[in-house]
Amino acid sequence: MRLCVLGSGSAGNALLVEGPEGPVLVDCGLLWSELVARAKRAGLSLTGLRYVLLTHEHADHARGLASLRRRGVKVVASAGTLRALGVRGLVAEPGLEVAGIRLFPIPLPHDAREPLGFRLECAGLRIGVVTDLGRVTPPVLESLKGCALLVFESNHDLAMLLTGPYPWPLKMRILGPLGHLANDEAAQALRALRDWAQTVFLAHLSQENNRPELALETVAQALNGWKGHLLLTYPDRPSAVFASG
Ligand SMILES: [Zn+2]
Ligand SMILES: [Zn+2]
Repeated sequence: MRLCVLGSGSAGNALLVEGPEGPVLVDCGLLWSELVARAKRAGLSLTGLRYVLLTHEHADHARGLASLRRRGVKVVASAGTLRALGVRGLVAEPGLEVAGIRLFPIPLPHDAREPLGFRLECAGLRIGVVTDLGRVTPPVLESLKGCALLVFESNHDLAMLLTGPYPWPLKMRILGPLGHLANDEAAQALRALRDWAQTVFLAHLSQENNRPELALETVAQALNGWKGHLLLTYPDRPSAVFASG
């Protein structure tokens, strides 16, 4: 099993998991040609892609959907996300299997119709993918226990957001319970998951209101003494490739 975050943040989100029966995408905020180029750059391939799991309908997660559907790729999402996008697809029911990967949806607090995170299970490995959430609620935390691999939102530094260039209403939206997670909120949640997590990708970092080294430092401090791998994701290029088995 290999996993790579092909792109992350408001410029476009997409994550590639190589399942036992072919590749699966989580989100497609990039167009097909860009997805193919980034997969290749990471040493992976989209050949045989049959499914894209969508977390929600925001453009940074769904921009490339039409280009995927033209290639016969099936959409898996919540009923609300399918409705919001006006597309047919499979409803992400707990235990649904795609390309040999079992998925469990995690309802998230975010300002979309019915946003989800996902827990993916494959060959004894549990992977948690959680971005675009205003708060880490107890059920979200509960769903991620046991995940050895996490892709977790660390969107902004609170002080940078508050003093930054965004208009006040947008700042309030990001800070609110249906917005995005701050570095210190991500750090606290990851601290609670440290007994299980062995590799953590920090995701959906804001280019205006965060700095990669600040996100890393905040989380690393909270995980003091943790023996795992803490990795970044990028708006313009693929992350490192996680490989197991
Ligand atoms: Zn987003
Ligand atoms: Zn969103």
